[in-house]
Amino acid sequence: MIHLPANPGISGWKAILPSRQAHKQLEKDISADYLVIGAGFAGLSAARRLNQLRPDAKIVVLEACEVSEGPAGRNSGFMIDLPHDLSSEDYLGSANKDIEQTRINRSAIEFAKNAAEEYQMPSEALQQVGKINAAATHKGMTANTDYAKHLTKTGEYYRLLDAAEMQELTGINYYQGGLWTPGTVLLQPALYIRSLADGVAMYSNLYLYENSAVIELTDEGRYEDRTLWKAKTMSGSVISPKVILAVNGLIEKFGYFQKRLMHVFTYASMTRQLSTDEVKNLGGQSAWSFTSADPMGSSVRRLSGTGGDRIMVRNRFTYDPSMEVSGSRIMSVSNSHISAFSARFPMLDKVSMEYCWGGRLCLSLNNVFAQGEVAEGLYSACCQNGLGTAKGTAIGVIAAEKAAQATDSAIDNFIDEEPPKKLPPKSLMYLGANGYLRWKEWRAGKEK
Ligand SMILES: Cc1cc2nc3c(=O)[nH]c(=O)nc-3n(C[C@H](O)[C@H](O)[C@H](O)COP(=O)(O)OP(=O)(O)OC[C@H]3O[C@@H](n4cnc5c(N)ncnc54)[C@H](O)[C@@H]3O)c2cc1C
Repeated sequence: MIHLPANPGISGWKAILPSRQAHKQLEKDISADYLVIGAGFAGLSAARRLNQLRPDAKIVVLEACEVSEGPAGRNSGFMIDLPHDLSSEDYLGSANKDIEQTRINRSAIEFAKNAAEEYQMPSEALQQVGKINAAATHKGMTANTDYAKHLTKTGEYYRLLDAAEMQELTGINYYQGGLWTPGTVLLQPALYIRSLADGVAMYSNLYLYENSAVIELTDEGRYEDRTLWKAKTMSGSVISPKVILAVNGLIEKFGYFQKRLMHVFTYASMTRQLSTDEVKNLGGQSAWSFTSADPMGSSVRRLSGTGGDRIMVRNRFTYDPSMEVSGSRIMSVSNSHISAFSARFPMLDKVSMEYCWGGRLCLSLNNVFAQGEVAEGLYSACCQNGLGTAKGTAIGVIAAEKAAQATDSAIDNFIDEEPPKKLPPKSLMYLGANGYLRWKEWRAGKEK
């Protein structure tokens, strides 16, 4: 029996949207030309690409939960074009690797933008606004200066903002400066992923089933020279010769990449709706979004639109190889969000957090995907190393192209990488990773 995904806390992104009718559960035994397991960025992008490549093929997508309940609908929505290595001091790697990664991310962003246009997504779902790396400390300012030098070396455009510009934008005087780059698109993640799901489900040959977790995946032997796979859910099954596993870290539970993937949670909170007086008191512009100059710092987004005026704060990382976290963990991280919020927005001292949630990331020691054909006809599109909006989209497209034996790729520059490196023994890993994360968070100081 395959372990099912847990999504702790109530995600504000989903909660502030109007309710939606989920696609029906799988309740019979069927067959398909292609089966995609998981309806996040990777799975839905794979489904869309398969339909582009094989418009007559029957494609089935099985999602364990309701679409947008999982990490794809509960992230901070930064679909970033530039390198974003969370394990580094400054998100960066070597110049050559970063140029390659940027090209891949940009193709993924283009793919998402085309989907948004084709499926007529609401403008809030995906907006091309760029991103600001905000710095609240001298160390953050130095990280931004180093980042700027690296961008110059890789031929990227950026603009530095001073403290006065940051205050004009936000209404608060917390930040010393910022670094703006134009290529990031900003998602309302739950709205984007729902709209993507509803968009692909409109194709007459594509069947999306929600609340249909795969509990067993078996090799049914060979038929007409191909291996057939059978995916069982609680009330039905799908037989297919080509299966794409787009379940991120949960691929381990299917028996692949075991002891090679790091399961990390990160967390976010969203305030209640601000009143008109509170909005006036705060000042600044009605929508802005910051990642932190320090990878361990807080991302902050000021929202307006559906759900009203609100602020979202994301911080904290914990290493949880069980892929589950307790309710008490959510309580404790919510305190960290409240501290980050109070420090930045002293004028909003009566504003409480309405939602607090966590979600799974999957990382590898060598910052690579867990991808490729892992058994005959079975493809992996997993391990997005924390940047799943862009990288998940890219690897979903790549997996579809591999499964459909496409000759052209929609993803510029993708080359198969080495597989994820083996992790040290479990107990060492648990203590080491959590100790390291706590130390890095402590060092992030006021950026957190
Ligand atoms: C709070 C938070 C903030 C984040 N912020 C950002 C950000 O700003 N930018 C960014 O790029 N990334 C961010 N991330 C990470 C991002 O959300 C993930 O990297 C991304 O969702 C991975 O996409 P995916 O499609 O590979 O996997 P997922 O989104 O995890 O989708 C996999 C799907 O597979 C389903 N599934 C699992 N097992 C089964 C099964 N047995 N049967 C059927 N279905 C199954 C799951 O329910 C899930 O819906 C954040 C994550 C969190 C939690």
